[in-house]
Amino acid sequence: MTTLPFFPPDLFDHDRDLLLETVRRIGTDPAQRFILGERTAAFEAALREHTGAADVIACGSGTGALMLVLRAMDIGPGDEVVVPALGCAPLAASVVNVGATPVFADVHPWTMVVEPYEVETAITEQTAAIMPAHMFSVMADMPTLSALAERHGVRLVEDSAVAQGGVLGGLPAGRWGDAGVYSFVQVKTFGTIGEGGAVVTDDAALGQLVRMLRNHGQDGRTRFVHHAIGYNSRFDEIIADYQLHRLSGLAERLERRARIAEYYTERFADLADRGIQAPPPGRDGRCYYVYCLLAERREDLRRHLAHRGVGTHVYYPTPLPAQPAFAQYARSRRFWPHAELAGARMLALPIYPHLTDAQVEHIADSVCAF
Ligand SMILES: *Cc1c(COP(=O)(O)O)cnc(C)c1O
Repeated sequence: MTTLPFFPPDLFDHDRDLLLETVRRIGTDPAQRFILGERTAAFEAALREHTGAADVIACGSGTGALMLVLRAMDIGPGDEVVVPALGCAPLAASVVNVGATPVFADVHPWTMVVEPYEVETAITEQTAAIMPAHMFSVMADMPTLSALAERHGVRLVEDSAVAQGGVLGGLPAGRWGDAGVYSFVQVKTFGTIGEGGAVVTDDAALGQLVRMLRNHGQDGRTRFVHHAIGYNSRFDEIIADYQLHRLSGLAERLERRARIAEYYTERFADLADRGIQAPPPGRDGRCYYVYCLLAERREDLRRHLAHRGVGTHVYYPTPLPAQPAFAQYARSRRFWPHAELAGARMLALPIYPHLTDAQVEHIADSVCAF
């Protein structure tokens, strides 16, 4: 029996010739320009058009994008940023790395995105921003969170690293916050052959500052004049050109993911009262980066699927405030029971677009057999 890996090694096989062609073209171009050139500018323009945002700034990574946004908002020592208790390290690390303090808010037990009520109770006089993140397949409750940000006079940073291509109430992921971010690291929905990220914003002044900060505070016109203390978070020309070509196929790949998810969710509908909960169905505010079950007997299910040749993955078994690196920021007498429970129960199934219908069926059959 063939094994279906959770992370497919052949994700880019289809575009291999395109990649080799891109490397040859840029590598032999007399201009010999490898970062922040015309291809990066063209990629940014394509993403502007794709999202409808006023400005898109390509940068070194999704983590870099978060830090650039926080710095451009002048968030630093003495400021607090409310982040989800469940999620990846950059959510808390980006805040700490600009000198500010992350404050953790618990998530919803089913959708696993941050709970607006928990965000609101975490807001203090020091809060400068709230930073919800879209998770797995569900976009955070952005209408409620953006009303909340407005009511409390704090900035809204949208970590849309995993939801590029998702749309909620007609507005694309990345457009809900004062700024949003994308990540192009391999495993993301618009992943690539290396590192990359982007900041998306309608705030022209913020965009201009991010653009300067990504290249050591220079304005792109005069070299060696540093208007601000920035970072090296520049963008690669080969990746820009490659992603520019792949952008047109993104909607189709996301559609295939959504159809696989729909099939899974239909097949798993009867399992809810037998210890396996499928993610919330629907299309609005969904983006199938990862298809995540909540299983009471997670480890047993995982073994069962492995025996049937189905690779799975466990995301975030330990909530951020329980991590050694971030425990010092966990406020006393605050708890994250839903993040803990999700960490103990979630199990992600393969959902990449080039799974065949027969493979998808085999995965669903295997879960139902358990
Ligand atoms: C992947 C990810 C990031 C960081 O992106 P990188 O490109 O890996 O730096 C940030 N936030 C979330 C929610 C992510 O999933």
